[in-house]
Amino acid sequence: MIKSNYHTHTVFSDGKNTPEEMIEAAINLGFEKLGFSDHAYTDFYGGWSVPKDRLEEYVTTLRRLQEKYADRIKIYVGLEQDALAIPVPTGLDYYIGSVHWIKKGDRYIEMDHSQEILRDAIRDFYNGDVDGLAEDYFDLVASYAEDPHVGFIGHFDLITKFDEKQLPLFLPTPRYTAAWQKAAKKLIDAGKIFEINTGAISRGRRITPYPSEEILKFWGEHGAKVIICSDCHAADAIDCAFDQAEALAKKYNINLVDLF
Ligand SMILES: [Zn+2]
Ligand SMILES: [Zn+2]
Repeated sequence: MIKSNYHTHTVFSDGKNTPEEMIEAAINLGFEKLGFSDHAYTDFYGGWSVPKDRLEEYVTTLRRLQEKYADRIKIYVGLEQDALAIPVPTGLDYYIGSVHWIKKGDRYIEMDHSQEILRDAIRDFYNGDVDGLAEDYFDLVASYAEDPHVGFIGHFDLITKFDEKQLPLFLPTPRYTAAWQKAAKKLIDAGKIFEINTGAISRGRRITPYPSEEILKFWGEHGAKVIICSDCHAADAIDCAFDQAEALAKKYNINLVDLF
């Protein structure tokens, strides 16, 4: 069983628990390592990121806890950045490269808020071309290949968040498949790590982790480096569905690595 998690949210962004509550919960699970990755600030929407004026407090709080708990669990201080966010401060232990937004004209479109937002954007900006939005999304994900700070890629196919419980939007068309394969290849070549992300399971949005089994199969066949993360937003979700994620990794011969 995996005893680490590097995708963890707290009350500093949109999590329910304090960092210390998350650490205590991880210790109770027998975890050896816990990495914090609250959302980096975006200047176009502040709804669920660490406010600009609290970033320093976020870092100093976690550095203090890193020291306090040093003999019980290894703590790492990171941020989950967004491709359209303002540049994040350097000097943290690691950064997750995620895409929660794409920009069309002067409008920012949120990728994981609701399927209605995606459908409206596809109608308004893509003339109904679903694959067009997917291509823009995966191009932005692929741009992390050039970011030297990014340790791993967050929820690679996030746009499929609603496709298990609603009418599926993104189907395995040739263009959709080509879009994610191009991004995956570029990121694998750049040596980036991917995550199997169980976050949407604990929040009742999905019954399987990100990414799809087609993508897992591709990762396995292409030797992608992968970690398992819960993207937890609450202390009771730190190891959510890790057994399911591990079984999938085994099924597709995934190269599981550790971040630290
Ligand atoms: Zn995210
Ligand atoms: Zn996250």
